[in-house]
Amino acid sequence: MDLYIEQLDKDKLKILPDFNTLEFGKSYSDRMFMMTYSNEKKWHDAKICSYKNFEFSPATLVLHYAQEIFEGLKAYRREDNNIGLFRPQDNFNRLNNSARRMCMPEVDTNFVLNALLELLRLEQRWVPDSNGASLYIRPTMIGVDPIIGLKPSQTYLLYIILSPVGAYFKTDGAGLKILVEDTYVRAVAGGTGEAKTGCNYASSLIASREAQKKGYTQVLWLDGVHRRYVEEIGTNNVFFVYGNKVVTPKLNGSILPGITRQSVIDILIHWGMDIEEKQLDINQILKDIDNGAITEAFGSGTAVVISPIATFGYKGKDHSLSNQNTGPITDKIFTALTDIQYGRAKDPFGWTIPIS
Ligand SMILES: *Cc1c(COP(=O)(O)O)cnc(C)c1O
Repeated sequence: MDLYIEQLDKDKLKILPDFNTLEFGKSYSDRMFMMTYSNEKKWHDAKICSYKNFEFSPATLVLHYAQEIFEGLKAYRREDNNIGLFRPQDNFNRLNNSARRMCMPEVDTNFVLNALLELLRLEQRWVPDSNGASLYIRPTMIGVDPIIGLKPSQTYLLYIILSPVGAYFKTDGAGLKILVEDTYVRAVAGGTGEAKTGCNYASSLIASREAQKKGYTQVLWLDGVHRRYVEEIGTNNVFFVYGNKVVTPKLNGSILPGITRQSVIDILIHWGMDIEEKQLDINQILKDIDNGAITEAFGSGTAVVISPIATFGYKGKDHSLSNQNTGPITDKIFTALTDIQYGRAKDPFGWTIPIS
């Protein structure tokens, strides 16, 4: 398949936002990548064109039945002023996993990655140089049949948009307050928790809203069957530190397999540290926080990178870590990960890909 590149009128390019005061997902770059799928032609009409609105029938399938998947990754302006991506192949492989779950067509991951690299070469000026900032990349696939019969769409759009972002949580080192959610669930075994699909997020909004009303930043999701085993925190994976040992919930089909999660595990293994993926009972976790066995807790995800957690609220009682700020292991992992992403340190894993 060829990639068509539309020429943009130089005078019509947008004015860059102030890279020091970026708000997440507010501004978008001049161009986007797009391609179309039909049963007859498969993926076709791949192009880089100007960022523009779509026009759809009100009956468009995705608007009714949420046949949608997405990804989230970042481009970083590195110390050497080159621009790098972090494990992008993993994002496109995960996109294909999500596609299979949602009855959507898979993509040629090499083709899409190359199209993204081309898009980034054209949009370099949008990669911020401010501290902790990056260019957030949002690949999205939607079912676009203008038919409200409930069945998989026969036509799809895949597009990639780019948004310069600053640091996600502005916590100045202080840990987050998290509410252990015991009313709502995010995902269940056999459901769509493992897929990055819009419907998971729509159904989670009410829990975060209620938690925020009670003074918490986010919720910790428990498993949907026993309401007992730790799954994730908001849209992040979660880790607990017991002195020199780190634990995280084992992937079980309802947890989203985060690429940051895997990177944290890989880094800990590389350091020769003890890391265990296992089923974590919330009662034991809270006991271990209260008796001081758990020394740090943090969330991981592309948007936030690593965010320290200070307090867990459960059934009306707060359980606080003795260290209310970023702990030493949390800090060491954050530094190691961002040093690789921003090209400040060697990448012994081969995770980073320069755009040129
Ligand atoms: C995207 C996401 C994550 C984090 O995945 P990364 O690949 O590390 O960004 C974790 N949980 C949920 C629910 C997510 O949507």
